[in-house]
Amino acid sequence: MKRAAIKIMPYVLVLLCLSLCAFGQEETVQFDGKRAFEMLKAQCAFGPRVPGSLPNAQCADYIESKLCNLGLTVKRQKFNAQTPYSNGIVAGNNIIGIYSGDNPTSDLIALSAHWDTRPVADKDPEPSLRSKPIIGANDGASGVALLIEIARVLKERKYPGRLLFLFFDLEDGGNAGSNNGWCLGSQYFAEHSLGDYDIKAGINFDMIGDRELLIRPELISMKYAADLNKEFFELAKKRAPYQFSNKPYETPILDDHAPFNKKGIPWINIIDFDYPFWHTHEDTPDKCSPISLEIVGNIAVEFIFQRWGKIKKTLDIKEGHEVIKKSSR
Ligand SMILES: [Zn+2]
Repeated sequence: MKRAAIKIMPYVLVLLCLSLCAFGQEETVQFDGKRAFEMLKAQCAFGPRVPGSLPNAQCADYIESKLCNLGLTVKRQKFNAQTPYSNGIVAGNNIIGIYSGDNPTSDLIALSAHWDTRPVADKDPEPSLRSKPIIGANDGASGVALLIEIARVLKERKYPGRLLFLFFDLEDGGNAGSNNGWCLGSQYFAEHSLGDYDIKAGINFDMIGDRELLIRPELISMKYAADLNKEFFELAKKRAPYQFSNKPYETPILDDHAPFNKKGIPWINIIDFDYPFWHTHEDTPDKCSPISLEIVGNIAVEFIFQRWGKIKKTLDIKEGHEVIKKSSR
């Protein structure tokens, strides 16, 4: 307990300072970890969100309604796929939330997460349970909850740019030990939709809600989106030095960022891959924490504003008053 308290102190102090500095302004709207955590639990309450199942369909409706309530334009991209665990062809659904701020000419940036859950618990210590689907609190629900809460904060803080919130289906149905069957939703989007959306860069979030959060740089991100990755970790290390490390993972992690880097769009993956309950039945809400979601969420919001949300300020002298006026970049 004590160790955990010490670990989050720098983060709490920074947050407190930010809140005080920005008191009375829109900047006081912060990422609410508790609110995000409720969305994590709500998804888990549907049951395992395996593609083609009823909980999967219910969760798709849930995500769409959350995005609609925030005033985003919502689209659903349907596709067919086959995984090592699907019994034949299965229907996939990518969910797309479109956010437009005041500046329609700004670069389009994507934030992504997968919302399906793994159909098997192949890493579970109990062999008899390995064929059953997992609940995916961290591996699935955490990224979705994070994205929806980020959308709320950016909207309330009147983020001026353009964003795509991408919720990919069929990320987690691959064959362990091979590259087959993973990331089918993001692959489909990368193959079929890049002509519709001129995405300049992306950030993928996966397994960012666990209680013992430690996020390290990922090798595909470092190789193909080096600047973006470096800048994100510089900020993250400043804000949450105990939850982020500069020591990269030993191997590349195949995730929903990979198909986009392959197409030349820099896309980083923010993931805690040292999660001990990965692909087991222990990946449940009690292994996750609102504080972890809040740490990553607030860093993400700050990073988005800092990197893509700048508005040039011009002076407009009118009747003796200085007016700060927004102008295009
Ligand atoms: Zn997974």
